[in-house]
Amino acid sequence: MSIPGTRRTLRRALGGGAAVLSLALACACGAAQGAQPQALGSPSPAGGTSAGATPSTTPSTAASPTPSTPASAAPGSATSGAAAPSTARPSGPAGSTATPTPAPGRTPSGGGTTAAAPLPAPDAPGTSIVYSTATGGRTVALTFDDGPGPATGQVLDLLARYGAKATFCEIGPQASANPALVQRIRAEGHRLCDHTVHHPQPMHTLPHDRQVYEITAAKDMIVQAGGPGTQVSWFRAPGGDFSADNRQIAADAGLRPLGWTVDTRDWAKPGVDKIVSTAQRELHPGGIILMHDGGGDRSQTVAALAQLLPWLVQQGYTFAFPAV
Ligand SMILES: [Zn+2]
Repeated sequence: MSIPGTRRTLRRALGGGAAVLSLALACACGAAQGAQPQALGSPSPAGGTSAGATPSTTPSTAASPTPSTPASAAPGSATSGAAAPSTARPSGPAGSTATPTPAPGRTPSGGGTTAAAPLPAPDAPGTSIVYSTATGGRTVALTFDDGPGPATGQVLDLLARYGAKATFCEIGPQASANPALVQRIRAEGHRLCDHTVHHPQPMHTLPHDRQVYEITAAKDMIVQAGGPGTQVSWFRAPGGDFSADNRQIAADAGLRPLGWTVDTRDWAKPGVDKIVSTAQRELHPGGIILMHDGGGDRSQTVAALAQLLPWLVQQGYTFAFPAV
């Protein structure tokens, strides 16, 4: 399936003016290489560049529930643009091994006047991708994408049972359709993140103004749903498809780009045990765990969370928010 076809669909959807979630939330967040440096080595079939990422071309008239199509998203579907050069240099601790460091001692022996290799351009303030909790130490940030949806209440119930706080990266129309859930998230001390209007994948290939719309309109919808005083602090690109452009757009909107360090791949419904074991294996102190409370049947996620929360407590973790 072609990306241009997807984009035409998106234009039609946008042209209608209605903030209707018309594209399937085939969230391949976990497949993104650009958002999670540690994922570079994870299995990610390269062949599925866009097939799975092409959202449904059948506009749905209701923002909720979302189509149950995540299984169709090829694991590699979001990777086509995820490794944009501007995002290939992680800013967080997870990327410490990947950060290109100019070799200081490489002055050519025969040509002393040769200019040193140029340093990579620093990120503009607020545009670097967050890969750690705000406080560091033995903390963890739980993040839930693609909601709010039918599973959000169960997720909130579990979080409350363990006194855990989490960050919800919401789809704008999902927030509009479920304002009570957004308000409950706020009331119970959790925080909010912008996950666009239509969950476009890839995102970075959209025209600039479309990306502006995806980010700013979603933020407005979330704020509207949450009520006066609602704060949205981060932006998470669908599939982790961050680019210099959309990171700057987010920063201009007061949103810090939010990555993750642990991809549970729960959206692919790999089984409860697999979701739990992945989190337990990959989590390090200060890490950010990616899970989903929307975008399809999340019963595996809920069941996994019920196991992960007591394990985290037992391991001495406390629950924190991502850095801002
Ligand atoms: Zn997503």
